[in-house]
Amino acid sequence: MKNSVKIIQSTSVMMLLILSLLAYGQTQKLPNVVILATGGTIAGAGASSTGSAYTSGQVKIEAMIDAVPNIRNLANLRGEQIANVGSQDMSVKVWLDLTNRINELLKGPDVDGIVITHGTDTQEETAYFLNLVVKSDKPVVLTGSMRPSTALSAEGPLNLYNAVAVAASPKAKGQGVLVVMNDEIHGAHNVKKMMTTPVQTFQSPEEGPVGSVIFGGVEFFNNQNGLNTVNSEFSVEGVKTLPRVDIFYGCADASADLIDYMVKAGAKGIVIAGVGDGNMNAPVLEAVKKATASGVKVVRASRVPVGVVLIQGEVDDEEYGTISSDQLNPQKARVLLMLALLKDRSREDMQKLFIEY
Ligand code: ASP
Repeated sequence: MKNSVKIIQSTSVMMLLILSLLAYGQTQKLPNVVILATGGTIAGAGASSTGSAYTSGQVKIEAMIDAVPNIRNLANLRGEQIANVGSQDMSVKVWLDLTNRINELLKGPDVDGIVITHGTDTQEETAYFLNLVVKSDKPVVLTGSMRPSTALSAEGPLNLYNAVAVAASPKAKGQGVLVVMNDEIHGAHNVKKMMTTPVQTFQSPEEGPVGSVIFGGVEFFNNQNGLNTVNSEFSVEGVKTLPRVDIFYGCADASADLIDYMVKAGAKGIVIAGVGDGNMNAPVLEAVKKATASGVKVVRASRVPVGVVLIQGEVDDEEYGTISSDQLNPQKARVLLMLALLKDRSREDMQKLFIEY
């Protein structure tokens, strides 16, 4: 009797040992993902769970991670707070800080992927900026939410869970910088915020999402277009600031003197959020011609949310010295132009960049 108790006891000890070793092995095998937090509605809080008023960037990253059930089963996680702002206050300084930190982290063998939590207002700009200046093919994934953490059916926890799953997935390697929102994976080149408040706001209207992520199940069915990350020629190593680039919003009877003002204020580049196919009225065209003659680079994008701006369309780009943004909307065209202006380039070389990137 005593012997059989002993046998049962030692078998249980052995089983426990094996189980703990297995569990230890599992933890060891998990990829290492770092979450860099910048604020936004995903970290926002309001007084009421059904009211519309709230403030972005209130919750710290560790509390955000702790609020997501099972997230630590996807990856070994740690968080760093880079900023805590609504992304309407995103700045070139934060972009440079983020880039330097990401490049530093991804250089080492101990980090497999990065997630960035970010407000949705300017998320596509940050994503596209990083797409051009991150020097690694490891996954870099941005996410956010439309509803603050205190709201009824806040979607931030699931978006964060899915973003970590994508950053931890070997399938995301070499896909460029990605945006994960609302069960979809978008490429930084194409993704646009299309709606002011609904959760399905992020879309890639020209080419569609590159993949989907359902409760952590990652599938890719497309690649984003445009050169990016390890294939990009842009670098911000040692860069402290970027040249000023302003956006001019086109409309009927637009005031041309605003272009003169931008040039006087020190803009090295101007993006026209033109009407239709990147068009502008005659006085604005004349002001643009003056600006380009003085060396300011002017890119024609469109205020229309979808489509390509044709080179030599209704505007004679050669005569006015302008450059087509190709597929980029005004805010992304501004990002590319700021980086392109770090080097002296001809209008023709600039045009090439807008086609390639
Ligand atoms: N204003 C907020 C932000 O961009 C909106 C959001 O995150 O959804 O930070």
